[in-house]
Amino acid sequence: MPEIKREVIPLEVNYVCDSCGKGMLEKVGEMDPKTGEIKHQCMICSDKKVFKWKSYPRIEHAGKDDKF
Ligand SMILES: [Zn+2]
Repeated sequence: MPEIKREVIPLEVNYVCDSCGKGMLEKVGEMDPKTGEIKHQCMICSDKKVFKWKSYPRIEHAGKDDKF
């Protein structure tokens, strides 16, 4: 297969705190390599939440013509 390139748009993905609805969750510590669990904490109310195999904030890329 030949190498191909396309232009993409970076998208910041955040998770708004379920508890206070204002703060954004931020990753605290590293992912557990066995369970994939990543601890997060709200920057405003310090509410804690665990996500598996994903962390916030993160950057994803979308193609210029993709729907998002
Ligand atoms: Zn909060």
